[in-house]
Amino acid sequence: MPDKQRLPDWHIQAILETLERMYPNARPELHFTNPYETLVATMLSAQSTDVQVNKVTPAVFRDFPTVEDMAATTPEVLYPYVRSCGFASKATNIVLAAREIMSRFDGRVPDTLEDLTSLRGVGRKTANVVLANAFGVPAMAVDTHVFRVANRLGLAHAGNVAKTEQQLMAAIPRALWNKAHHWLIFHGRRVCRAQRPLCADCQLLNLCQNPVYPRTSPGD
Ligand code: SF4
Repeated sequence: MPDKQRLPDWHIQAILETLERMYPNARPELHFTNPYETLVATMLSAQSTDVQVNKVTPAVFRDFPTVEDMAATTPEVLYPYVRSCGFASKATNIVLAAREIMSRFDGRVPDTLEDLTSLRGVGRKTANVVLANAFGVPAMAVDTHVFRVANRLGLAHAGNVAKTEQQLMAAIPRALWNKAHHWLIFHGRRVCRAQRPLCADCQLLNLCQNPVYPRTSPGD
């Protein structure tokens, strides 16, 4: 069934072109150099910040440089390294995921959504980030920024992450999925923030379907 709420193609294209102009160098803000590091950093980033994750990963990757090293340790040993990124369950999930990669995937981080999401503690968003950033596979990872900005702009009109992902994949050309993911995150962090978005200064104001503009007028 056609999506009657979907923006016309010219409107979607205008939004994407504006985002590209605003953020020509949008890229992952987590630090990693291979699929294993991408997976670990992305798992740590859930409900934490990229800045905080980037503080802890140098020591993690120094002392556990491979999947094999991570699989050989224990959650109790790993936890002090990653404590500042949140829950103890993250350390457990990372170690158990590494053991699964050793036993089921011959020590190589898998490169399909199905295999990645079969790993302990790896949800769809984490899997899509790993696919896009470690393997260059077109994917639309919907985190809190992508969800908020896409629905404010009108690129999506969904009440949940799964529908937002589907609508973004339908609206945005596949070749742009990975770039668009970073554009939306950059915009969400810098301008279209959750609290007090900077609508008055937003270059997308004229294209935005749900601006929060009145609440950010001078004197607010
Ligand atoms: S106009 Fe406001 S709500 Fe719309 S994208 Fe810009 S900052 Fe976000």
